[in-house]
Amino acid sequence: MVPRRPAPTRRPKRASAAKPKPPRPLEIAGLPVPLELRESARATRMTLKVDPGRGLIQVVIPVGVSERDARSFVGRHDGWLRARIAALPPSLPFTDGAVVPIRGVDHSVRWVADLRGPTRIEDGALLVGGQPDHTPRRVRDFLVNEAKREIGARARVKAALIGARIAAITLRDTKSRWGSCSSTGRLSFSWRLILAPDSVLDYVVGHEVAHLQEMNHSPRFWALCARLTAELNPDVDTPRGWLKTNGARLLRYG
Ligand SMILES: [Zn+2]
Repeated sequence: MVPRRPAPTRRPKRASAAKPKPPRPLEIAGLPVPLELRESARATRMTLKVDPGRGLIQVVIPVGVSERDARSFVGRHDGWLRARIAALPPSLPFTDGAVVPIRGVDHSVRWVADLRGPTRIEDGALLVGGQPDHTPRRVRDFLVNEAKREIGARARVKAALIGARIAAITLRDTKSRWGSCSSTGRLSFSWRLILAPDSVLDYVVGHEVAHLQEMNHSPRFWALCARLTAELNPDVDTPRGWLKTNGARLLRYG
């Protein structure tokens, strides 16, 4: 019998010392949307991620994988990629004539050459004055302000209901989450929630305010969240489902 050789001692895998490079464009001819190559220290294999907000595909690779390997990986998934790209909602710029949902209700953007006063809603239209090429920025400014007002008012009422204190409310253009709550009581929301129906905006506000008291997603948190959003929602699953189905579309505006 051949004596068994002792098993070679395995050196523990050391975390790669190489730092991930910043994301960079990956040029691949023939694809209708841009690709971005992103090195990730945590990735153990290559993955493709569709980013509906930015209208691009991210190729996530472990640190050290070559661009050539990334290309052939993309090539092997060409069919899948094209199907996903075809399913992306179209980009919806805030130009004259565009239809924009404000609090879930469609409004058309109307540029009015001699409009007096600020951007405002009148008869189901969003009236915008000033230079025509400033229309997209003016529409966006208007929506961010509306979001600030609406979210701020709802957050304060809900926080008062549970005796919680809000340190600050910030509006951002986040792509992966609709709201967040820090341990110091700072709430942050996507301004794009103003495009969603009131019930959905109200749910996200209630969710983050509930985190002021329950910094977790325990049954106690969900019970509190349901209580804070019960006025406009039969349950928390309805607005969550709405965001799952329609969220990507909201990211395509502007
Ligand atoms: Zn949460």
